[in-house]
Amino acid sequence: MHFEPLPSSETMNQILDKTYDHAQVQLRTINLWDSENIYAYQVPLKGQKLYSVDTPPPTVSGSLHIGHIFSYTQTDMIVRYHRMCGEAVFYPMGFDDNGLATIRFVEKARGVSSHKMKRSEFTALCLEETVKAEAQFKDLWQKIGLSVDWNSLYSTIDERSRFLAQKSFIELYNKGFVYRRDEVTPFCTCCRTSVAQAELDDKEVSSKFYDIAFSVDGVGEVIIATTRPELLFSCVAVLYNPTDARYTNLQGKQARVALTGKYVPIIADEKVLIDKGSGLVMCCTFGDSTDVAWYKEHKLPYIQSIGLDGIFLPNTDFLAGLKVEQARERMVERLKSENLIKAEKAITHAVHIHERCKNAVEYVSLQQWFVKIVEHKPTFLALADQINWYPSFMKVRYQNWVEGVSWDWCISRQKGFGISFPVWHCRACGEVLIAPVDRLPIDPQESEYGLSCSCGSTDIIPDTDVMDTWNTSSISPYLCTDIMHGKKDDVFAEGVFESMSMRPQAHDIIRTWAFYTIVKAWMHSGVLPWNNIVISGHVLSSNKEKISKSQGNSPLDPQKLLERYSADAIRYWSGSGALGQDTAFSEDQLKQGNRSVVKLWNALRFISEHRTVGALPPKLHGTVNRWIMHRASQTLGAYKDHFEKNEFSRALETVEQFFWRDVCDNYLEMVKDMLFKPEQYDQAEVESTKLTLNNIGLRLIQLYAPFMPYVTEELYQQMYRSDAAMPSIHATSFAVVGDAYVDERAVQIVDILQQVVSSVRRMKTESKLSLKTPLIQLLISVSGESIESLKKVEHIVRGVCTSASVSYTIEPLCSEYMRQDGDGYRMAICLNTTAQTEV
Ligand SMILES: [Zn+2]
Ligand SMILES: [Zn+2]
Repeated sequence: MHFEPLPSSETMNQILDKTYDHAQVQLRTINLWDSENIYAYQVPLKGQKLYSVDTPPPTVSGSLHIGHIFSYTQTDMIVRYHRMCGEAVFYPMGFDDNGLATIRFVEKARGVSSHKMKRSEFTALCLEETVKAEAQFKDLWQKIGLSVDWNSLYSTIDERSRFLAQKSFIELYNKGFVYRRDEVTPFCTCCRTSVAQAELDDKEVSSKFYDIAFSVDGVGEVIIATTRPELLFSCVAVLYNPTDARYTNLQGKQARVALTGKYVPIIADEKVLIDKGSGLVMCCTFGDSTDVAWYKEHKLPYIQSIGLDGIFLPNTDFLAGLKVEQARERMVERLKSENLIKAEKAITHAVHIHERCKNAVEYVSLQQWFVKIVEHKPTFLALADQINWYPSFMKVRYQNWVEGVSWDWCISRQKGFGISFPVWHCRACGEVLIAPVDRLPIDPQESEYGLSCSCGSTDIIPDTDVMDTWNTSSISPYLCTDIMHGKKDDVFAEGVFESMSMRPQAHDIIRTWAFYTIVKAWMHSGVLPWNNIVISGHVLSSNKEKISKSQGNSPLDPQKLLERYSADAIRYWSGSGALGQDTAFSEDQLKQGNRSVVKLWNALRFISEHRTVGALPPKLHGTVNRWIMHRASQTLGAYKDHFEKNEFSRALETVEQFFWRDVCDNYLEMVKDMLFKPEQYDQAEVESTKLTLNNIGLRLIQLYAPFMPYVTEELYQQMYRSDAAMPSIHATSFAVVGDAYVDERAVQIVDILQQVVSSVRRMKTESKLSLKTPLIQLLISVSGESIESLKKVEHIVRGVCTSASVSYTIEPLCSEYMRQDGDGYRMAICLNTTAQTEV
């Protein structure tokens, strides 16, 4: 429909500005939300439902990117929906600033290196730097319209988080879920830390397979195939497959390692691949995870060649001081010079890499802290069945991961910065000495234990490791609940923690964040961390690549986007992305969002000119009014059904259809003539129409509010605020527009009316005439039953079709026509399908 301005409006309504200035409105609205505390958490009233969100704390390591905008605004839509359902919303924000990414960010910003500083000093720098970054984040989050309660903030390295992370550790240690032992763990010598199974990726790399001559006394030369000749000093066994007839003669013998001359046992093991290389392999501590398995199974000695810094240790003779690649070269040179390499072959094979830095990991044996997860796998699988997963197929990813977990969760890391273990060790008896809770948070490297061990010894040393960042992130529901309770309660105490409503997160961290959070909530409180998990997709660039790095000056940089588009238009794009699906960035969707914002503004402007402010009368006059109320009511129902399943994009589609098709294309067109020439219509119907307009206007801005919080707020402030109790559209409830409205008869009638209108429009268009071309007469061929329907809305037919008179026939017409008759036209249309097919 076209929204023509009325030169002389009879109503005294405030008329909206002709154009909508989104930049000004955004500024004004942010201030309004702030000063009116619209999003502040309020303790639920009696009987009121609580909707609490375990918001993902973004990593503080630079700036936010388009992927953040995409996923966080989707969560915001769901949250805004629940708020408008009248629920008490708790929507906090966290910042994750205790991980490697933040270390690098702060080191770069301050020109320091974390491992040369005291942990407490670096933590202080970190907090200073992250305050700045967080201010930028908050600015952007506010501009994009997140309805976060900015009083509910945490950072994963702040004092309270350190306290709760250490308290969590002590609780789980006391419950027997945490233990410490020597363990071989993947270790990234680049990041200088052990790495959890969940942080490993596989990568195909080019390498060489070397045949190296070992010897066996009494047998002679035997050929070992290996990709890691540099580990000869760590060789602890030679293995063959017991079904391999070539080597059964080696049973019980020892092999002499090439070059070193050391004797190692020859062991039969079914895991040796007969057709790989020579079928005879060495076990080194450690070349790969298979070596780890053999080492454990056959109880072999541990000889470490590579230090934690990736440099060969002094016990490796001529390799000492070299890096892995150099050591391999040097070893191959040496073996060749002694004629010990019998063949070499280029191959590609998969190695484990650290997902963060993409470097191949080594395996080392260290004293580590673990959380027991392997023995509780059936429980973690059962818990997942009690959680609602959106989209549901994401549960399969979780199940596959948990089923495949074969190691306990190593929560200790050997790096400088992070949250310390509140632990000392007695050197005399090995006892673990735990800090008392009233001293938390504590860094044992900077504080004395202060007592003697129960064995009497005072030879006590601090634990120097820090916790895996997931160990803190996985208690985010507790960090949130702690804030919600005003930091007054012991959130780990029995019965204090209650499952939160929802966790929004990305799909690539199901195996870490989602899984570990489920683990912790069960261990601490025996409950689910949340009842619903909503998984967002990633944003792909137009060439379908994942965008995760900050795009700098690219057009996709959020700040740049916000200069070019309204926040509402950007949110329209993210709101149309399907849940859990990676979505390509689409400028077209942004433009469509803009069109919807402008169309909404214009439609409400039209409504503001013609409406009567007030409640709907008990008896609504006019079939089309009853029809649009029926459709509005149906739309709200469908919209809620979609949102209850977190299908925000389908909810948006529902509103869009209602707005563009039902309201703009049909309803406003049908009542326009009545609004322009009220004297020609029944006055009771005119008044009902004006009240319906007012009601539909409010419904529309409510339905759009979760998606487009700014334009809807501005419309509310200008058109509805003065007569309503609530200071913001976002504080109103869907319930204010009234109960469900049902009128099936009106739907039947308007259905026929729409057929008439579209036929008349089609005929005019086909005759290349304006839609406003007046008709002298419109003849409608239609069934007798439909004639009765059409008579009820004949005044509307005349108005919309600009026809002076309307007549009906039940005779099938042989053809439709549009004939000129003097100054006007006569038209005949046929809704009688049987007649048309006879033509
Ligand atoms: Zn690494
Ligand atoms: Zn002791």
